[in-house]
Amino acid sequence: MILSKLFQNKKAVYSFEIFPPKPTAELSAVQNTIRELSALSPDYISVTCSAGGSNNAGTAGIAKLVKECGVEPLAHVTCLHSDKAAVEAALAELSRNGVQNILALRGDRIEGRPLSPDFRYASDLVSFIRAQGYAFDIAAACYPEGHPESENVREDIRNLKIKVDAGVSHLNTQLFFDNEDFFRFMELCGVAGIDVPVQAGVMPLVKKNHVDRIVALSGGKIPAKISRMISRFYDKPEALMEAGIAYATEQIIDLLTSGAAGVHLYVMNNTYVARKITENIGYILGELNQQ
Ligand code: FAD
Repeated sequence: MILSKLFQNKKAVYSFEIFPPKPTAELSAVQNTIRELSALSPDYISVTCSAGGSNNAGTAGIAKLVKECGVEPLAHVTCLHSDKAAVEAALAELSRNGVQNILALRGDRIEGRPLSPDFRYASDLVSFIRAQGYAFDIAAACYPEGHPESENVREDIRNLKIKVDAGVSHLNTQLFFDNEDFFRFMELCGVAGIDVPVQAGVMPLVKKNHVDRIVALSGGKIPAKISRMISRFYDKPEALMEAGIAYATEQIIDLLTSGAAGVHLYVMNNTYVARKITENIGYILGELNQQ
């Protein structure tokens, strides 16, 4: 099923993001992860790929496993270090694997890799996919706090409009912890004439190594509530896990009751976290989708 149909039919779309295992990992581990996540009945599962495009093959294979488990996959495709031929090959493989939905991304720069001669921005990739005549439904990324390379959110939204107009049918946001950033972003998108559904990206902060990475990436934009949680439970893994799940649950309920088109959960292949949050919000999701 193409995801734009889903957004037409549902008030609140709920999905997970997973990443392919390292080439050295056992495939059975990720198969179990996908089975357990599928049993939670998300609307779709997205599968990441590296900016080098090197595990695009992994992405296509994992997306196929998702489909075999009865859940619609959304396959990420990056372009910053790939030429047209490499992207075309990735698209052809996804198409052969029955994938109908693509998240078109520029990708993050990999030191030492030559840049693509063909693609500079994700919007170039969106136009390319459309020009190839594939029937893929195309999603793209957006940034409630502004993309780090942009001067400010308004400039980023001007560029986002170019990307959406190239043929994007829904947007998934970068993770954020303060819902006010999302609400402000939605207002600015409205002013800019961006009217495709925007799904809010939520990442439960449940592990010390996530905390370290996110704190480094966010450049200090961590709400005081989360800072307190981190400093209190940094060395108490079980408490951090439960506190992170509780924070994400509260964040999601606020997003859903405020009318977000859906929530995309960055579950980092952690089925325990996905299950607990799905149990917490399941009733509310069901209610919203019956209205
Ligand atoms: P773009 O839309 O091209 O934007 C990048 C920058 O260029 C922005 O600052 C934008 O304002 C600017 N820009 C865009 N168009 C123009 C223009 N016409 N003129 C001037 N400036 C312009 N990375 C991965 O490697 N693999 C993944 O699987 C992956 N999944 C992701 C999923 C989500 C939901 C999100 C939010 C991000 C994901 N990323 C992933 C990270 C993403 O690749 C990086 O954030 C990357 O730096 C930007 O990608 P983009 O597609 O948003 O780029």
